[in-house]
Parts: sequence; structure tokens; C-alpha cells
Amino acid sequence: MKHLGFKRIFPSLFLLSLILSFSISSLAVNHDVRVKLSSFKKLPRISARTLQVAMPGRSFEKLGARFVQLTKHPLSLEKSFGWWNGEGRVWPSPTLYLKGENVLVGSNPAPKRFKIHAHSRGVDWIGIFPVEEYLKGVIGSEMPASYPMEALKAQVIAARTYALKRKTLRKREVFDLESTIMDQVFTWPQKDLPTWAQKKIEKAVDETRGQVLVGTKSRRLIHAFYHADCGGSTESAYEVWQRGKPSSSRHKDRACQARSSNQWRTRLSESQLLAGLKKHYFVGLNTKIENVRVTERTPSGRAKRMRFTLNHGRSIEMSGEGMRRIFGFSRVKSTLMETNYSGKEKRLVVHGKGHGHGVGLCQKGARSHALQGKSASSILKLYYPFAQIQRLKVAEPERLAAAQ
Ligand SMILES: [Zn+2]
Repeated sequence: MKHLGFKRIFPSLFLLSLILSFSISSLAVNHDVRVKLSSFKKLPRISARTLQVAMPGRSFEKLGARFVQLTKHPLSLEKSFGWWNGEGRVWPSPTLYLKGENVLVGSNPAPKRFKIHAHSRGVDWIGIFPVEEYLKGVIGSEMPASYPMEALKAQVIAARTYALKRKTLRKREVFDLESTIMDQVFTWPQKDLPTWAQKKIEKAVDETRGQVLVGTKSRRLIHAFYHADCGGSTESAYEVWQRGKPSSSRHKDRACQARSSNQWRTRLSESQLLAGLKKHYFVGLNTKIENVRVTERTPSGRAKRMRFTLNHGRSIEMSGEGMRRIFGFSRVKSTLMETNYSGKEKRLVVHGKGHGHGVGLCQKGARSHALQGKSASSILKLYYPFAQIQRLKVAEPERLAAAQ
């Protein structure tokens, strides 16, 4: 019976393993990430020792000049943009790939490979990096290098997962990642870190090479969000942004709860509040604020819904994270907060604990767990309980193909 049962089960197990290995190996196809370095109204002059240019899908051609001023060229026929070098040469494509030696865009050194993309508001400058190289630039900006090695490694794995997930989601976009807190902070030209810090970051990246977090069930890259300080407990993405499925991926960080250095307080005057609200909502001239309060909290105690009560019986409702966005992420540091509006003094006092949205890995918590001797993988298990580490095959950095 046992044997019969096994034979019946075996083909489906085999099929399942094929499907799983297919979905995982498909993650490893392309390891370059396209990072928006900055946006310009007008592209600065590009200078280089040697410079080559290519339109998407075409091969590179050498440019003779050491300096080139590429200008956006409206192509009325294609209702799109192109580029021209001021000497009659036009590339009829909004995107242009460039590479060369000692290339400067304005006064900034350019990465080995980059592209420029023209659109109605200006020009995006987008660097193309192998993901492992990109990570070395991210970690130095996202986590203090003085943190213990296992915390840094956990951070690297989360950041790698985040970047590759964004890449799968933005396949059809011009770039995969912003270089700001909108995605992950990536400083270009790269930050001058002390040698010990640089070496430590390189080690954390190299020793976790190709490691990503995939869902235990889905076997797909997870949205590996992370933040600076949970203030005592992390929260699920579902509760904070109402995205994904409800889950209990909450982790209590006693160390973050016990710390008092993560308490913060901020004041916003009625006029500051009105100015912020005006950017997103219709707020009439004679509007006054009567009250501001948290109307719903997440299981970890974060402000989920907020209500601004205005005069004339009006009110504005928003999420706790929406309030952070409107009044500044660095001012309203987290939604683990209490609000107190004084109509008499016409001001809102907000005090809270922690820093960041509270979803996924808590960096301060990762630091304390690492100091207690936990490994990167067990730290990640705490913050992403429904994920496991998967090692991707790291392909050689992609060739300088213009086609993307
Ligand atoms: Zn924490």
C-alpha cells in the first residue's frame, strides 16, 4: 500500500517541483536594476574621453566629440521625443543609452552604463547597475555600517528582495527604482564612506550574494519593506496601507518598546495644518480646524484612520500614513502616535514612538537581535514570518545590450 501510494503521489510531486523550480529560476534571468539618479529640466552637458550612444534595440555608435550637448527634440510625427546633438544628428527615441570612459553628466561622474529619457516635464537620468553593486550603494545610506554584521546582512537580503520585486513590477516602466526614500536611498555619486565601513558593507553584500526572500507558499519574491524603528511592534502591510491580504505578521520588539530615545514630539499650527490639507483636499478660505483625532487603530496601536473636524460641519478623513505623507515623514515620524488638538491655542501636538511605517524589518530591532547573537536568517524569520531565504543564481552582469 505504501508503495502504491507513493507511486500515485510521486508524479504530482515531481510536477510540483518542476513548477517551483521554474518559478524560482525565472527570478534569476536578469540582475541589472535601473535606478533613477536624478531628473533635470534640461540635460547638462555630457563630457567624456570616449562616448558611445545607442537607441533601444540598436547597437552602439561612437561619438567623435569629447563634449556633447544632447537636447530634447520633439518629433511631431511620432508624437514623442528624440535627441539631437546640435550638429544635425537626431536619434528619434525618447530613450538613449550611453556608455564610455570618464563620462561626466554636468559635473557628476556617470555610472558605466546609463540612459537618458526625455518626457514632457524634462529628462530622467537613469543608471544601470548589477544589483549586487547597487546594493553596496544602498546599504551605506539605509543602515549605519556600525550595526552588527548579522543585522547588515538581514538588511542586504531585504533590500535585494525589495529591488528585484520592484523590477518585476516595473518591467514596462522606464526605470525600476527611485534613488530616494520613495524606494531605497541610493546616493550617486557614491558616498565617501570610511574604508572600514565600505569593507563591512561589501562583506555583508558578498556573503549574502543572490539571497532573497520568497513567500513560503507563493515562492515569489515578497514585498520586503523595512523601516528604522518600530517603536515596540511592527505591523502588517494590510493594516498600514490596506494592501495585500490580512496577516498576522506582527513582531513585538521589546528593545524598541523599552528605549526612550525613539520618542518624538511635534507641533503643527492651524495654519500649517490648513496649508498641508489644501494641497490634497478642497479647503475653503474661512475654514477652521475644530479637532484632529485618531478614529481607528491597528492591532499594534498605530493610527489607521484620522479625522480632521472642520467648521461648517465638514470633516476630512485620511489614513495615518496619509497624514505622515501630507505633513512630512520626518516630522510625523510614525503612526504609533497620540494627537492632541487645542482649539484655544490653535495647534496640534503629536507625540509618538519609533520612526517609519512599521512594516517588515525593523532596523533598530534587527540591531538588538544581532547583538544578542541572532543570525541574519533568524532575524528575517521574525520580521517576515511567511517568507524564507532563497538563493538566486547570480548571472554574470548583463552585456551592454541596448535592447531593454
Ligand atoms: Zn523594532
